Amino acid sequence: MDLRQNIAGVQNRIAKAAVRSGRKPEDITLVAVSKTVDSEKVRQASLLGLTDFGENRPQALKAKIEVLPHLRWHLIGRLQTNKVKDVVGRACMIHSLDRWNLAEEINKRGQNLGKTIPVLLEVNIAGEEEKAGLKPIDVEVFLDAVSQLKYLQVLGLMTMAPLVDNPEQTRPVFRELYQLRKRFLNKDYENVNLLHLSMGMSQDYEVAIEEGATIVRVGTAIFSGDN
Ligand SMILES: *Cc1c(COP(=O)(O)O)cnc(C)c1O
Repeated sequence: MDLRQNIAGVQNRIAKAAVRSGRKPEDITLVAVSKTVDSEKVRQASLLGLTDFGENRPQALKAKIEVLPHLRWHLIGRLQTNKVKDVVGRACMIHSLDRWNLAEEINKRGQNLGKTIPVLLEVNIAGEEEKAGLKPIDVEVFLDAVSQLKYLQVLGLMTMAPLVDNPEQTRPVFRELYQLRKRFLNKDYENVNLLHLSMGMSQDYEVAIEEGATIVRVGTAIFSGDN
């Protein structure tokens, strides 16, 4: 498989899953997770039509943005407060807001830049201990609190499903994130507008779309086997 075929294959599957879930292919954003490849490979992928890329480490995000500033870059991995300054103002979206002091730090940096920073709340639906994310039961209080931070704009929820053999096993996790979001849609929060569900990776992005994902984060299925 080469990069062109990989991308076409993923886009085709995304389009079909979107239609199965009653939506249009363009309603789903494909974030190509480029953490295992270099900037040159990202450039090639962008020339093949990809616009959004994801990195899980702030340093790598910063380095790649310097080479390819015209692309949309998402920070999808754990963010330490001392790295916030490298990400805010550079990333188009931070998917991994999972604690209050991080929210405050992002807000502070946004204020310094005079910019509102788009974020997603990461929720640990599956309850795996080693995974980041808020407990579902804590999301409401957290949203109440972050809605007071003027330089944060909460645009949705994100989750990581457990690694499994059969993608069907992740379906309940995605369904639960969808239901969680639904509970807050009628609340009139300042600075909170839960438009997005970032869920689904190479193993399970089709299931995630069927369950309502608006953003999928796909690495291996795009970049592996391409040399
Ligand atoms: C690496 C990573 C992905 C992509 O995983 P693949 O299995 O390679 O598609 C998605 N989300 C996060 C947070 C990741 O770290």
